[in-house]
Amino acid sequence: MRRTAPIQLDPRLRERLAKRGFRFTPQREQVYVVLLRERDHPTAEEVFIRAKHEMPEISMATVYNCLDALVKCGLARQVTLERGATRFCPNMREHGHFYCDICKGIFDVELPAAPGIALPAGYTAERYDIAIHGRCPACAGAKRNEAESFDRAGRAKRFLDTALS
Ligand SMILES: [Zn+2]
Ligand SMILES: [Zn+2]
Repeated sequence: MRRTAPIQLDPRLRERLAKRGFRFTPQREQVYVVLLRERDHPTAEEVFIRAKHEMPEISMATVYNCLDALVKCGLARQVTLERGATRFCPNMREHGHFYCDICKGIFDVELPAAPGIALPAGYTAERYDIAIHGRCPACAGAKRNEAESFDRAGRAKRFLDTALS
């Protein structure tokens, strides 16, 4: 039985992998689809569990290998907070991470082009790795329409349009 991928990435993904000397494999595609489908910054183990739904034969070692290839190709980045497990994020635009202290969710927040942090003389910022802690709209008991404006599915959809363009 042939797996039907709801997100068609193959030609563009093949190109991005090839540019960095990686081979396209269905496993790499599957792992990338898992990252794009639910952008909640899963750990490698969570990616493994999700990937197994559609590809039962995939191994944990293969998932590690795929994540490594995606990171090296600039298709995903690693996110680490304190001593927590490494998580993976397919959003390669400059952004910070909002950590909800209640549900432990991790959300992408867009950053202004220049976050306006005054640095001591002689320091040049090249990228920002910003962690913000608090409560997400759902946990803060925000009004329903406000929570909906933060809807992950909508954000994922918009992101998909630009992910590989
Ligand atoms: Zn929350
Ligand atoms: Zn992120």
